[in-house]
This record gives sequence, structure tokens and C-alpha cells, in this order.
Amino acid sequence: MEYCIMCDNTGIYLKPDDEEDYDKAFDRYDHMGIFNHEETRIKALRDSGYTRINPCPRCHKSPTDYKK
Ligand SMILES: [Zn+2]
Repeated sequence: MEYCIMCDNTGIYLKPDDEEDYDKAFDRYDHMGIFNHEETRIKALRDSGYTRINPCPRCHKSPTDYKK
């Protein structure tokens, strides 16, 4: 199965509520150099706030599709 970068093959896309805040937070955590990409992303998302989009707008799959 093709890997979906938007939902990490979970079927749920976490959309930042504020893209600008998210980018700033991502850079800040990234520069610390102690988090992997996934940790950096999640921390930045928590800072900016996010909305769970289901199904994913890129692959159009929902979590149940990925459980198969
Ligand atoms: Zn997806």
C-alpha cells in the first residue's frame, strides 16, 4: 500500500488550526534537535491546535480502511 504522508496511513489527518503557528512551533522543536520528525510534528500540532479530518483528504481513506 502506498504510504500517505498526510495521515501516516491512519486515515485521520491532523490539520493545524493555525498553519503559521504550526510552522513556527515545528521549527522551534526541530531546532532543539532532540525530537524525531513524528514527535516534532505532534508537539507543534498541540501548540497550534488541530482538527481531526476523517477521512483523510489526500488518500480518501478512513481508519477502518487502514485496519484491513
Ligand atoms: Zn491519508
